[in-house]
Amino acid sequence: VSLEVLEEMHKLELCFPVLAERYRLIDKIGEGTFSTVYKAAAVDGTVVLGSQMWKSPPLHRSSAAKKPKAKKKNPLVALKQIYVTSSPNRIHNELNLLYMLSGNSHVAPLLDILRYQDQVLAILPYYQHSDFRDFYRDIPVKGIKKYMWELLQGLEFVHSKGIIHRDLKPTNFLYDPFKGKGVLVDFGLAEKVSLPLSSRSSNACPCLSKERSSANKAQSKRLNIKAAYPKADQRPPRRANRAGTRGFRAPEVLFKCTNQTTKIDIWSAGIIGLSLLARKFPLFNSPDDIDALVEILIVFGVDKMQKCAELHGCGLELSAPLIQKTTFNGNLVKFLSYCLNHEERNGCLPPDSVIYDTVKFLDEDSGKLVKPIVDENEADVKIRESQRLEMEN
Ligand code: ADP
Ligand code: MG
Repeated sequence: VSLEVLEEMHKLELCFPVLAERYRLIDKIGEGTFSTVYKAAAVDGTVVLGSQMWKSPPLHRSSAAKKPKAKKKNPLVALKQIYVTSSPNRIHNELNLLYMLSGNSHVAPLLDILRYQDQVLAILPYYQHSDFRDFYRDIPVKGIKKYMWELLQGLEFVHSKGIIHRDLKPTNFLYDPFKGKGVLVDFGLAEKVSLPLSSRSSNACPCLSKERSSANKAQSKRLNIKAAYPKADQRPPRRANRAGTRGFRAPEVLFKCTNQTTKIDIWSAGIIGLSLLARKFPLFNSPDDIDALVEILIVFGVDKMQKCAELHGCGLELSAPLIQKTTFNGNLVKFLSYCLNHEERNGCLPPDSVIYDTVKFLDEDSGKLVKPIVDENEADVKIRESQRLEMEN
């Protein structure tokens, strides 16, 4: 433990008097935008509520008496210090969802909450895990299956409670490749699904009414008619929750579909799975939503992405035939073999490389290196809202 971390922990103990009475800070294990996470041990006499949920078998007095020499270890916990700069609503939301989700072995349960003035600490069991970057290159296929199984088990439970995680990525799924066990953490961006049950079974995006959806279908046939795009469009842009992390956002999030469902987590889980199979992390990396759509499009193909756009009430217009040429067209075998044949880069590619390397790779014969720069003004790729089309008609 570095001196800097020791000082930081000492400072926390000083300004949080109840903390040291119950927990002994051991190390800092994570630091994000909204929180810092510490490893700690409960001090003697501290009853860690719900500790039987993750310690099995529970320690009974009788069994302890039989083995007097075996010293009982104080339970290890993770203390998540939620920054005071987070809004009270945000803190409440995270703690409330954690509380609702306690009781499943694939989701880290909330054991306790400590509050002192404006500071809040969430207490979770400590889970031994490995950094994704240490195993994604050589975890065997059997291991990938187990990883995905554990992840999807966790998601199934979260979704059964009507909760969308919204920020699924390797750092929020603590996996121990030696034990083959994983738990979901970090519900800081999670939210309850706000959908009426009836629209969930429908295949179309719930942000479209039935009429709009079929109208959109008819109109999307005219996607390539450029004149249909109004020149100086004054209407405000579409707004939707885009919370999450670059590279893991589902197309409907990027299309700014308003009623997003638990399926956005399944997309992120799929990206993690593809990343493991391709031995490439991060797989997608663009911070810009339109660039992010192009990254997805290159792998999954133009047709699928246009269908997807249509489903979410958008039109996706590609004026550059280049993108058609460079796409793997949804042929994942082709995509994977491309990735696996570029191992010399040590698996980890620089930002945007999935797009740019692909373009370079496939356009060499023409001798022209053209990047699919997706600038709305340059009109290489345009995302149009169905309303825009509707206005034209
Ligand atoms: P943030 O909202 O800051 O991303 P997280 O809840 O994702 O916070 O935690 C950040 C990091 O702390 C995780 O990626 C993980 O490495 C570590 N961590 C969080 N919870 C635990 C836990 N229960 N056990 C062990 N490590 C944890
Ligand atoms: Mg996190």
